[in-house]
Amino acid sequence: ALPRIRELDAYVPGLSIAEIQQKYGLSQVIKMASNENPLGASPLAQEAARRHAPSLFRYPQGGNPRLVRALADLHAVDSRRVAVGNGSDEIIDLLIRMLAEPGKHSLACFEPCFSIYPIQGRIAGVKVRRCPLEKDFSFDFDALLRLVDQSTRLVFVTTPDNPSGYCPPRGAVADLAGRLADIAPDCLLVVDEAYMDFAEDEAGASLLASGALPDNAVFLRTFSKSWGLAGLRLGYGVLPPALAEYFWRARLPFSVNILAEEAGLAALADTAFRRATLDAVRRGRATLRDGLTALGCTVWPSAANFLLFRLPPDAGSAKGCFEALLRRGIIIRPLNSYNLPEHLRVSVGDAGENAAFLAAMREILAAPE
Ligand code: PMP
Repeated sequence: ALPRIRELDAYVPGLSIAEIQQKYGLSQVIKMASNENPLGASPLAQEAARRHAPSLFRYPQGGNPRLVRALADLHAVDSRRVAVGNGSDEIIDLLIRMLAEPGKHSLACFEPCFSIYPIQGRIAGVKVRRCPLEKDFSFDFDALLRLVDQSTRLVFVTTPDNPSGYCPPRGAVADLAGRLADIAPDCLLVVDEAYMDFAEDEAGASLLASGALPDNAVFLRTFSKSWGLAGLRLGYGVLPPALAEYFWRARLPFSVNILAEEAGLAALADTAFRRATLDAVRRGRATLRDGLTALGCTVWPSAANFLLFRLPPDAGSAKGCFEALLRRGIIIRPLNSYNLPEHLRVSVGDAGENAAFLAAMREILAAPE
């Protein structure tokens, strides 16, 4: 392999339930590590996947036109703007490879940030420039823009952010897009809204929802979180129309498979499940925030379906707490791969999972191991 591939650190996913069951001999394991949907998958989506099982021998329809149309309707945009991919990860990867030349161009993102941006950038041979987050994990867009020069082809911003849950005002994101267009007309702003629907006020927080789409911005969303289909791998983007056309030329022809397309369409129609998901996540987020705060933890404000937190002083290490939770059959997310070894991230679970997590934390903090 090329030297830049040999030097890579692989993406580190959350631990799987099967791994922990086997390692600790547990039958019941709770996973609150990967920001999945606490209510599972929509019943209508499950039914659609079963119904289409006999079609598995067929290729999907080229370009997934029904799904594209449904997403265009959902966001009230022209369907020529919509791109679908094998998770939004695929769209991130493709945007980088479509816009940035190896050895010549750069991308800019925050540090820490969702690790796929720098990883796929390095795989593509693109220079990755990192802008530190503020101490409170908010964004300094002035500092981010100082990293942009004529070599920069993409700037990534995650809102709400992973792993902090921080959500900048949408006016600040619009302003960033405008200033970027002035400084670097060939540079694209990628606004990753993977968690935006969990915000208390999505309509007020999302630039995509505002309908005022800057010409130099791409918006990314995913079916992995609020739509409950992480295992099927389905994400989408709202792109400037010319870029969307190139996207379809560059994409692998069938990366969104038949089950993902059918289940995705059914999930979009399952408004009751979606309502229940958003209610459960917003309620569970408040329960976890209050519970962790009462235990003396520092919890960062989050508009997403997870919380970033730190243990109280003298409560032992984050690693020790993570491992003590594992022994009790609860998986959360250590943040070493985000360079935050003393922080932890917990995904909002269902009511029972949230209660079990808080009870385990109470026990662990009462007697740090
Ligand atoms: N963006 C962010 C900020 C994420 O946290 C994730 C999921 N970990 C993704 C994108 C990728 O989502 P998908 O499952 O659609 O590839």
